[in-house]
Amino acid sequence: MIPPEHKLSGMPELPEVEHVVRALRRAVVGRTIVASEIRLRKLIGPTSPAAFRRKLKNATIAGVSRRGKFILIELAPPDRSAGILPAKRALPAQLLVLAVHLRMTGKFLYLNADDDLPKHSHAIFYLDNDRRLVFRDQRQFGVMKLVAAKSLAKIKGIIELAPEPFGDEFRLDYLKSVLKRSRRSLKTLLLDQTKVLGLGNIYAAEALFRARINPFKIATQLSSSRVARLHQSIIDVLADAISDSSTSRIDLEQPDGFSYGEAFERFWQVYEREGEPCVNCGAKIRRAAHGGRSTYWCPKCQRR
Ligand SMILES: [Zn+2]
Repeated sequence: MIPPEHKLSGMPELPEVEHVVRALRRAVVGRTIVASEIRLRKLIGPTSPAAFRRKLKNATIAGVSRRGKFILIELAPPDRSAGILPAKRALPAQLLVLAVHLRMTGKFLYLNADDDLPKHSHAIFYLDNDRRLVFRDQRQFGVMKLVAAKSLAKIKGIIELAPEPFGDEFRLDYLKSVLKRSRRSLKTLLLDQTKVLGLGNIYAAEALFRARINPFKIATQLSSSRVARLHQSIIDVLADAISDSSTSRIDLEQPDGFSYGEAFERFWQVYEREGEPCVNCGAKIRRAAHGGRSTYWCPKCQRR
């Protein structure tokens, strides 16, 4: 019984984006971009392809990080003074960041010079080791923004984001204040990245199951002890998903060797388990669909 939205999308959630970040870090940090090619104009928004190519030319990839589901490729500009490595010379203020959002089907590939370029390759970065970093996106919802590092926090899509789940700002008090101000159901509120960051449809369901809280409960009505349980569950479920062994399936050199959503399937306790026995109590997992999304919960462990 696979609900239709999963078959269609397989959108990457935060743990998968984190693994893409780690894989990119291993592959391309320290490499210099000798040339780049944009084959899908809308991918880079208002930036002209010529300006984009010029800014990236001879930039060195100084690091790869993440803010929400934005992948941040940090670029140090070329150093005009000979003999010194650009990454070491660059001042942070000069750093450019290529902020990439995978959306539904965006994928990075790390290809050899003679590998065939797969379909839907919309951006190609030629690296100084004769390899290519390719951005491929079948459904074309992916986004690339080239911004100065110092203005990154202010760009649309990033400025609105709630604190990182593993950061110091995501404290219990923070979650309490967010829930206190909302009359929405938890399943809706937890998906709002401007309030609680990191949970998509899968991990919202999993976090609520771990905290033994009913997804249809109204946020403002949650008791203090339940908010504390939910806070811990959010952190734990994301940390566990990131450290789960099935995540090794994200491999930039195997373009068709993985798809988003499938990588963590083994790990899910309620998501896509409608009708299966609950791992805690044996009751049948239930599913409710609305707005094209499914919510999964155990009717016994997660009573209203
Ligand atoms: Zn149960």
